[in-house]
Amino acid sequence: MDELSLYEKILSISSPWFVESVQLDERDNTVHVHVEYDCDKHLTCPLCESRCSRHDTRTRTWRHLDSCQFRTLVHANIPRSKCRTHGVLQADIPWADKRSSFTLMFEAYVISWLQEASINAVSKKLALSWNAADGIMKRAVERGLKRRSHLHIQNLAVDEVCSKKGHEYVTIVSNDHGHVIDVQEDRKKSSLNAFFTGLSDKQIQSVETISMDMSPSYIYATKEYIPHWERAICFDRLHVAMDLNKALNSVRKSEANMVAQQHKLELHRSKFAWLRSRENLKDIHSVQISTLSVVAKKTARAWAIKEYAMELWNYDDRIWAEEAWKQWYSWAIRSRLNPIKSVAKSIKKNLWGIINAIVNKKNNAGAESINSRIKMLKVKAKGFRNKARFKAAILFHLGGLDLMPEI
Ligand SMILES: [Zn+2]
Repeated sequence: MDELSLYEKILSISSPWFVESVQLDERDNTVHVHVEYDCDKHLTCPLCESRCSRHDTRTRTWRHLDSCQFRTLVHANIPRSKCRTHGVLQADIPWADKRSSFTLMFEAYVISWLQEASINAVSKKLALSWNAADGIMKRAVERGLKRRSHLHIQNLAVDEVCSKKGHEYVTIVSNDHGHVIDVQEDRKKSSLNAFFTGLSDKQIQSVETISMDMSPSYIYATKEYIPHWERAICFDRLHVAMDLNKALNSVRKSEANMVAQQHKLELHRSKFAWLRSRENLKDIHSVQISTLSVVAKKTARAWAIKEYAMELWNYDDRIWAEEAWKQWYSWAIRSRLNPIKSVAKSIKKNLWGIINAIVNKKNNAGAESINSRIKMLKVKAKGFRNKARFKAAILFHLGGLDLMPEI
């Protein structure tokens, strides 16, 4: 096989394209591959495939995978056809995306690296500019989104993630396959609205459950778009636990100001013992809780109420679950602990969604694992310059998308 045929094989090109010459420039350690379009072959319009005349040619260059230790550039004169209907258009190039200055094989190579390492690391490793690596990532996400024909949206979870230091948020919608389906700016009602707006009526009907915290914005958005919201919304166990923990912590803090001086420090230091769930208590925490329960009775009461609530998530039957939660509510509301009473009221108001979560066995555990993977992405990337890049990186790594170009 001669070197021209070898490079035709390497680039996977065939008639009407052919490799005209291959040159090694030792000054810059680069192999230059010159590709041409066979003049004897007629041109067709890329849109309607009708036979066209050649309007002109444009010279372009693409970076390809290295040939052994040599950087490899592909150069070609691309003919432009002149169609009576569609005007002047560039002929389709089989080895590269229209907007890219890299061959598809090179892009696929960069994508496989980007799946393992940050844009910074990949651009250094492959001697690419940061913007070029970022562009390849963006094109891969666009390609993946375009190919996504079926969305698994029967069981969804929606949660907020901090996009930057401070208080900038994005809304993440994920499914029970562990994939992020959508990323929207902010954590407002309009954020989730924007996701629902993109769904067809049929897709809206196919949503069976949507797990979330009890904050009003996501609830209102779901009520507006999902006609069967009363059965679909599930309030996440972990978020209920977080609300109760916040209340318990504020009971503990105010009680720490009232207990005898010799217990103040100990109660102050015991924060994390009370916040852990009973099954995760270490021996040292159990000792702390049983010792302090004698002197910090309000904190102990708040803790018992929180722990009891956490045990009420294993029912299969709606009526039994409702009965158990009503008993819990009557205890919590008579606890004479204002922060606990306030969470109890919110739970009573939203009990229907808690019961949905219990009987459907739905929670945000998958979404939480996605959140921690997003945090890792932020660490790896040392933060993101803007939300568009943050969104692209989330969909690239966690969208379950088919990212690779077709070669
Ligand atoms: Zn045409």
